[in-house]
Amino acid sequence: MGGRIKYKTSDEIEAMRRSGKVLAATLDYLESMAQPGITSGDLDRKAETFIRDHGGVPSFKGYNGFPGSICTSFNEQVVHGIPGERKLKAGDLLGIDCGVILDGYHSDMAKSFYIGGEPPPHIEKLMKATRNGLFKGIEQMRAGNKLGDISNAVQKEAESKGFSVVRALVGHGIGTEMHEEPQVPNFGQAGTGPILREGLTIAIEPMINVGTYKVKTLPDGWTVVTTDGKLSCHFEHTVAVTADGPEILTLP
Ligand code: MG
Ligand code: MG
Repeated sequence: MGGRIKYKTSDEIEAMRRSGKVLAATLDYLESMAQPGITSGDLDRKAETFIRDHGGVPSFKGYNGFPGSICTSFNEQVVHGIPGERKLKAGDLLGIDCGVILDGYHSDMAKSFYIGGEPPPHIEKLMKATRNGLFKGIEQMRAGNKLGDISNAVQKEAESKGFSVVRALVGHGIGTEMHEEPQVPNFGQAGTGPILREGLTIAIEPMINVGTYKVKTLPDGWTVVTTDGKLSCHFEHTVAVTADGPEILTLP
């Protein structure tokens, strides 16, 4: 990151929309395969092939040396899990995070999936609070609002349901780079921070925990886990502030 916010023209937003379309389709494709028995590495290889077949480049691959095209984060893993030989099993809560570059423009999206059927109520509640937090944040992406309005909306939704908000990792601006200004925390005061203007494109990505908000990184240098070993959930969309309000760019 570093530098100032880069507001996008409508042509740039159109390019990001195309990038986001490939990415959303990739996640739909992965969802259809995320069943007990498949490995996270299998999903990773499928994702890379799918993205390249659709003219994109997987932006995570090689990012600061990350080996995968997706991050696969199981249960108490918050984000940045490295895909490998681990098999999905019934009862896992699996977060899949992925990024695409198409014609020079990035999109970034994450979804969490319960593996092997319908989630039990306590996991359903966590998933719902995380997804609703994301959408309440998106709803605040209107010209004239402030960045803190987004952060506060996410936090309020998660905490009102009894969950905690990860502090150590945040959302971000996105465009010709995966990570641009501004940082977008999932917690904060309404009415504070930079004013939102048309052309702002950011990735909002609540990481919501059942227990403590505290996290640590495993010795693999990537995988972020909750320090108490309790469940965490992650959803993310790339969104633009337009004249007509918020527009989600990561849609199929
Ligand atoms: Mg992401
Ligand atoms: Mg992101």
